[in-house]
Amino acid sequence: MHRLFSVLLIVSVAGAAAAQTNPFFAPSPLPFQAPQFDKIKDTDYKPALEEGMKRQLAEIEAIANGAEAPTFANTIEAMERSGDLLTRTAKVFFAMTQANTNEALQKIEAEESPKLAAHADAIYLNPKLFARVKALYDGRESGGLDAESKFLLERYYRNFVRAGALLSEADKTKLRTINQQESKLNTEFHDHVLGDTNASSIVIDDKAMLAGMSEADVAAAAEAAKDRKLEGKWVLALRNTTQQPQLAALQNRELRKRLLAASENRGRHGGPNDTRGVVVRLAKIRAEKAKLLGYPNWASYVLDDQMAKTPQKAFQLMTDLVAGSTKKARQDAARMQKLASHPITAADWQFYAEKVRKAEYALDDAQIKPYFSLDRVLQDGVFYAANQLYGITFKPRTDLPVYHPDVKVYDVIDADGKPLAIWYADYYARPSKSGGAWEDTFVDQSGLLGQRPVVFNVANLQKPAPGQSALLSFDDVTTTFHEFGHALHAMFSNVKYPTLAGTATPRDFVEMPSQFNEHWALEPQVFANYAKHVQTGAPMPQELVDKIKRSRTFDQGYALTEYLAAALLDMAWHTLPADAPMQNAAEFEKAALKRFHIDVPQVPPRYHTTYFSHIWQGGYSAGYYAYLWSEVIDDDAYYWFKSHGGMTRANGQRFRDMVLSRGGTMPAAEMYRAFSGHEPSVEPLLIERGLKEAPSDKSRVNQ
Ligand SMILES: [Zn+2]
Repeated sequence: MHRLFSVLLIVSVAGAAAAQTNPFFAPSPLPFQAPQFDKIKDTDYKPALEEGMKRQLAEIEAIANGAEAPTFANTIEAMERSGDLLTRTAKVFFAMTQANTNEALQKIEAEESPKLAAHADAIYLNPKLFARVKALYDGRESGGLDAESKFLLERYYRNFVRAGALLSEADKTKLRTINQQESKLNTEFHDHVLGDTNASSIVIDDKAMLAGMSEADVAAAAEAAKDRKLEGKWVLALRNTTQQPQLAALQNRELRKRLLAASENRGRHGGPNDTRGVVVRLAKIRAEKAKLLGYPNWASYVLDDQMAKTPQKAFQLMTDLVAGSTKKARQDAARMQKLASHPITAADWQFYAEKVRKAEYALDDAQIKPYFSLDRVLQDGVFYAANQLYGITFKPRTDLPVYHPDVKVYDVIDADGKPLAIWYADYYARPSKSGGAWEDTFVDQSGLLGQRPVVFNVANLQKPAPGQSALLSFDDVTTTFHEFGHALHAMFSNVKYPTLAGTATPRDFVEMPSQFNEHWALEPQVFANYAKHVQTGAPMPQELVDKIKRSRTFDQGYALTEYLAAALLDMAWHTLPADAPMQNAAEFEKAALKRFHIDVPQVPPRYHTTYFSHIWQGGYSAGYYAYLWSEVIDDDAYYWFKSHGGMTRANGQRFRDMVLSRGGTMPAAEMYRAFSGHEPSVEPLLIERGLKEAPSDKSRVNQ
């Protein structure tokens, strides 16, 4: 996942430093302006955010009221330079509210989010400013602008229009109110889900209940209990998804049911963290906002600015896959049923999937995990692949301050030996962190501002007991490659304007570099380099490697079905028209899944409505389909590599030069076509997902 905060589209020039000790008031003196986590206090955020808004508004007023006729430099470029205090602070602040929050930060977020929404409105709904942008936009063909500047101008014009710049004053007022409400509800949703996810952890008194879990996982559960001051007990903390990894191991069926129920009931069992009311109000006001802006529903508004263009196109891609996907899931369920003496439910699925893996592929998760220690996966897998493809190297550094002792920092060095970026890794789960995994930046690359990228990855891997290495499942290995793919997109960014840097692409393209990077996890050359036994260092026996590969498409029916269920649910919520009555969240979800024939009882959606953070708070509203949309392109790109000699420096450089370094400086479809020489095809995805047979090695002819 990549986090997006649309409030901050307009960014970044220094005002006079305040005569205070607030570390945000001047650019950080650390390398690449890395945040001064040793100096930042919780009390610094609020004054820096508020002063940041004040200063940017003054800068914007000066631009809007300028006596000179509008030019690209005195209007667009001036906006790109504005708001540096606000950007610097907000980047760190929102990184912390997601990865290392506390009550003080949550309170500031609740207070400041509506103010930030109003701040964005004050900029985008400023008629004098828009008149200047429009004059430049109307004359863009004769302005003598280079391609990136022209694209930025078009981006600004579109941003203004999409933010309501063409509305009447009365409608602008309505829009401001909606934006206020939406921002409050986003924060409320976030806090409730975090609160309920922590509160729904399962506390175990009797170790025997954990039979089936590995010693390392039991030790980690004891450690999680210690962190919560429950010494002598075991805590099964919840991941953000519906399915929980422990369900594959736990032999106690009642505990499996309890764990899945705790997960599925988040946000919908009453009490202070219930989110049902929040989501129906969010769906309603988004539909109203879309209507105000001239769209039939929220999804149409969102997709108008994406590669997919219309909800119909996104629906089409998904509904075309429903039959094949649910059929495969049902076939897998039938295979599992033979091994069980009771009907297989969602709570049993992973457990019996493991059994089938063992019986039919002789593959056992406990056998694999010792070969995936986090250190090796990172050093000899993720870093190694990036080195082979792009020539970059990594050096840990301990002199930069971090916000939590678990965070590690690296220098990223380019092929020519010059520093390229700084990268932070924050991999372990803790109660102060939101669920899932993501990438974002503390500082965006920009030639105009002379900034170089400071990038971070966050995940929720189970923290090992002291002195032990974290052992990953292959899913976790894949996630590590995925988030690092986003990080590469940010680190290789080589653009002029901060608004177009790195991951500032359409959302249905932004998952392409990350999912593309996942492919290298199984590349024989890479896999052999990192999959070594944690104690002996012995390579994974070839027999085991072959088994992993053979079993790869097993359970893809479940994976694709749970994904499609969630993505279709997202689109169902966000294609509601403004005049639809308030929904009942549970009934709506049930009816939507039924309507798309994706209501397989053993395969619940990857996220139920009540804890679907991506769409209610994470910037992926009407956008969860983007993973599948991007997957079509990333699988196509991977097959391009396969047919052009595979994992070579030359291929990596081409991909870096033509895609990864370009950020959002041109239309994504055009960018991809220039790289690959063709339109992406859905065939590679069907083959990779095991929904279609691979053609006999034809793809390698071009070597
Ligand atoms: Zn992602």
